[in-house]
Amino acid sequence: MDTIAERYSAVLQRVAQAAQRVGRHAEEITVVAVSKTWPAEAILQAYAVGIRHFGENRTEELESKRTAVSHTLGPDNGITWHLIGTLQSRKTEVAAGFADCFHALDRLKIAHRLSHHLQENGRTLPVFLEMNLSGEASKSGFSCTTWETNATQQTELRTAIVDMLQLPGLQVQGCMTMAPWDAPEAEIRTLFRRTRALKEWLETAVPTLHLPFLSMGMTDDFEIAIEEGATHVRVGRAIFGSRP
Ligand SMILES: *Cc1c(COP(=O)(O)O)cnc(C)c1O
Repeated sequence: MDTIAERYSAVLQRVAQAAQRVGRHAEEITVVAVSKTWPAEAILQAYAVGIRHFGENRTEELESKRTAVSHTLGPDNGITWHLIGTLQSRKTEVAAGFADCFHALDRLKIAHRLSHHLQENGRTLPVFLEMNLSGEASKSGFSCTTWETNATQQTELRTAIVDMLQLPGLQVQGCMTMAPWDAPEAEIRTLFRRTRALKEWLETAVPTLHLPFLSMGMTDDFEIAIEEGATHVRVGRAIFGSRP
């Protein structure tokens, strides 16, 4: 199993099987191929086997690979470029110019800056709110560690979201989370389940909010994520191999 074609087809099969186990359709699930650290040539190989969703965690890499790939394939290549990593304020302009979807919106300040640059560019950007349910200090995201019972966290989330919904250019479409590194399966599953419940709670807490999407699951846990309702899985190593 060492070509992108073989690895990708194995991933699609596992996606389909996980979906089937819980009565879902594989078509509901978008596999974002995480190409971070790989050169543009790897993206072209993946494109040749039919991959159209790519994930990058750094704005510089996204910009340079998007530019290189458009140079080869033309601008209307059908690729959706997902920015999946935490964004620093000074990188919001590049993100607003080059990302087609942003999975890691983790604070209001970033939302405001993105909106400002999106308006300048006349673009819109679908975004996922990154939710930190594990409390791991290394994880960014809105603080939701005890959201089920913590009125302060609930109020803060609701207030932030109401504010974000006013921002032109920003399309709040879902929640994103990351499981703790190396946690036991039961813990990962609980975390994904709580994230889905949080998304559903937010839709009732903010009546104008519609969150069709849930971005969760990576190489080691995407099947659990699908069983728990993920619509987007972000898979790197299982498609491209171990990163260079
Ligand atoms: C690197 C990365 C992934 C993919 O990780 P793999 O383990 O290679 O599948 C997914 N999401 C984010 C935010 C990442 O940074």
